Amino acid sequence: MNQSLNPPYRGRLAPSPTGHLHLGHARTFWAAYERASAAGGVLVLRDEDLDPARSRDEFAAAMLEDLRWLGVGWQEGPDVGGAFGPYRQSERRGLYLEAWARLVRSGHVYPCVCSRRDIARAASAPHEGQAGARQLQDDEPHYTGTCRPVAGAEPRAPAAPAGLNWRFRVPDGGEIVFEDLKQGRQGFVAGRDFGDFVVWRRDDVPAYQLAVVVDDALMRITEVVRGADLLKSTARQMLLQRALGYPTPAYFHCDLVTDERGERLAKRHESLSLRALRAAGVTPEEVRARF
Ligand code: GLU
Repeated sequence: MNQSLNPPYRGRLAPSPTGHLHLGHARTFWAAYERASAAGGVLVLRDEDLDPARSRDEFAAAMLEDLRWLGVGWQEGPDVGGAFGPYRQSERRGLYLEAWARLVRSGHVYPCVCSRRDIARAASAPHEGQAGARQLQDDEPHYTGTCRPVAGAEPRAPAAPAGLNWRFRVPDGGEIVFEDLKQGRQGFVAGRDFGDFVVWRRDDVPAYQLAVVVDDALMRITEVVRGADLLKSTARQMLLQRALGYPTPAYFHCDLVTDERGERLAKRHESLSLRALRAAGVTPEEVRARF
């Protein structure tokens, strides 16, 4: 098997079981399915049930069922197994902890005691204008670095992350440029477009950025297809990939689906969920025709 020069296509579907899938998810997952099929590759379904407070088993079951109804198929996943499991993030904690410990040892992350309120206050201070910063929806607030250790400080020895937020120290002014296969060339500047971001939460839940980077690498994902709301996260994830010595996959960020008021679809748009459409007699072909 040739793993080095031209690895076979491996894509992934990474839904979170925090609500029912809607038309926006459907468009993204259909694109992921089509791209994997066109490449003759493998598609992995990963259940992103990272956050125990927001994830529900009934949504996990519903998302698999809804995707199958839509016509999306996968070759590896929590329901079908595969060589790179487990395929539920809640069962992969040990892998995330290992990555966290490596980042502590290499001095890439540091503990942070700031509350959300401290961060909001610091971010609205006049010196924090973030001129030119690209704002995307649903993004974590820009951290201004109160707890950041001085440059060259001795890295800590990893023990356990619980009880504190752990942040990745971004290289201020560092440019992250990538060629998105759908959206074209993207450029972000660390320290301007985003600050030191959380990789492990004080409630002892690994953060999305870390989990996704570890999973995409260990599941040997070669191309990530997901929504354009995650473009800035891609820049963060590329920094994590470099810090952990992982390869960077190709990226294809789909356009977001909006409602009649131009607002991005969210889980609150229950009437546009695949469940509701199906109950109303809409067929999978009709759903796909709307993409
Ligand atoms: N689980 C994430 C979501 O549902 C997607 C993560 C990703 O594709 O990287 O928004």
